[in-house]
Amino acid sequence: MPDEGPRLGPHTVVTPDRALAEAVVDLAAVGGNVRTITAVAETPVLAVVKANGFGHGAFEVARAALGAGATWLGVTSAAEALALRSAGIGAPVLSWLHRPDEDFAALIAASVDIAVSTGPHLDAVARSARDLGAPAVVQLKADTGLSRNGAVSADWSDLTSAARRYEVEGTVQVRAVWSHLTNAEVPGCPSIAQQVAAFEEAVRVARRAGLDPALLHLANSAAALTAAETRYDLCRIGIALYGVHPSHSTRTSAVTLRPAMTLRSTVVNVKRVPAGTSVSYGLRHVTDRSTTLALLPLGFGDGLPRTAEGRAAVQLGGARRPIVGRIAMDQCVIDVGDLPVALGDPVVVFGSDDDAAPDAAPSVADWARWAGTNPHEILTGIGARVARRYVNTEATIV
Ligand SMILES: *Cc1c(COP(=O)(O)O)cnc(C)c1O
Repeated sequence: MPDEGPRLGPHTVVTPDRALAEAVVDLAAVGGNVRTITAVAETPVLAVVKANGFGHGAFEVARAALGAGATWLGVTSAAEALALRSAGIGAPVLSWLHRPDEDFAALIAASVDIAVSTGPHLDAVARSARDLGAPAVVQLKADTGLSRNGAVSADWSDLTSAARRYEVEGTVQVRAVWSHLTNAEVPGCPSIAQQVAAFEEAVRVARRAGLDPALLHLANSAAALTAAETRYDLCRIGIALYGVHPSHSTRTSAVTLRPAMTLRSTVVNVKRVPAGTSVSYGLRHVTDRSTTLALLPLGFGDGLPRTAEGRAAVQLGGARRPIVGRIAMDQCVIDVGDLPVALGDPVVVFGSDDDAAPDAAPSVADWARWAGTNPHEILTGIGARVARRYVNTEATIV
């Protein structure tokens, strides 16, 4: 029988050599970014690996970050925290968003720190700890101005007093008081000083309640790089870990971050068309000259934002060429002009620094600008059909 190669079945894992596109993740870049940020902030790093490590792979990024000296991992959900534990990661993990009826026992048993923002959550955590016969370690979150999670000042006194009662009873240990910033991307924004003041007050109230938190933390990437007064004992680093500058001001600073992800694909169709040819759905683009069109097998189902239509470009044949017409679910069309192009030619969708040369591949920040969003949304949107391939994995041994 002729060799037909492996058959694709319902449980076939998409490996890079069979996928239409791959996200190449450079784990040495992740490690280098951790070292850079640790040096600039002079503060230990909590690596934020929520949302599958901003689309890069939570486990792989966690190992690379820990290997480079990050001391904590942060995730949003209990499921994400437990997945890290199942993968064999024993480092300190903080999980910060929970249902009120969460299975807190599983988190306590897995030695995951539980962020707590409300009285009912605290009571449920304490109940689970009592049932389990093991204390829960919690990190109490104050709302200092973001108005998302965290307890507002009117509720903070009750929350800290209740936590202290549970400490005395032996069911809960408060390791940290923490909060999250609203607008650290704008250096010198008055909200930063206001939030620091509110945070200091929250810490005072917690201490008056008898708590003695070993850790205080407030800073995200932007604050870690630009606002020393927010750093305290730990900086929670998300976007900068992945090599994307959190704001224009850090981009123009002396801090060099290396993008961890390069999104690559391949030309799967090439055609020469005359002037007046309409391209993709909706008759929204018509060629104004005879040109060559190259088909890119990536679309919004893979995370290319449909709203980037008319602005987006990719790198092909050593030049930036525009995507023309609608970005469809699975594909989009590149106008190559008179550039020579062949089936199978490599395409780089993004992967450069934001300040790269005009002919270099676009950056994640370019895509974010084209789509009117932030780099976080671009990275977390990269879909499951895109295979992840890891390079420089030796940097991850911990
Ligand atoms: C996502 C997140 C971060 C990381 O923010 P970046 O701006 O990406 O560094 C930090 N802390 C909390 C609570 C978060 O939810």
